[in-house]
Amino acid sequence: MGEDIQAYNGGGWIATKLEWLINWGRKRSPWPLPYGTACCGIEMMCALASGYDMARFGAERPSFSPRQADVLIEAGTITLKMVPILKRIYEQMAAPKWVIAMGACACSGGVFRTYSTLQGIDRVIPVDVYIPGCPPRPEALLQALGMLIKKIEKSHPILHKRYSDFLVGY
Ligand code: SF4
Repeated sequence: MGEDIQAYNGGGWIATKLEWLINWGRKRSPWPLPYGTACCGIEMMCALASGYDMARFGAERPSFSPRQADVLIEAGTITLKMVPILKRIYEQMAAPKWVIAMGACACSGGVFRTYSTLQGIDRVIPVDVYIPGCPPRPEALLQALGMLIKKIEKSHPILHKRYSDFLVGY
């Protein structure tokens, strides 16, 4: 039990902060939306396989509907033609929502410094955790998920970042 929770076994009741309870539930079930667009997608699929046991984090259930997902894992290159699709998927996710940019292409365009490639997905949607590498190993995705869980733990349970605020800077 965390330090914010106090159990009184003798009396048969538990007292805690509501925000601790909400974040505890959220951090235990970060359902991922796997969005693999290139080679990094293979490493992401590998991480989702049984050998890496994402169920430890409550993230073993990939959601292919944005409306039922909490964490968008963008793994791979995004061309400019794909930008509207990526934005639409992010917009369709219900708040609170988080984004992991997996691999050099998702973080910065990677080796594809060309006119047709987006130079990092944070140019169009907010990113919470960046994973460097070309490609990163599945363990790196697990580490990123751990970092995201810590972030969720400390987040405000009701006030979330708004996409419209993010867009002001662009
Ligand atoms: S970072 Fe490397 S492995 Fe990942 S999608 Fe780009 S080129 Fe492929």
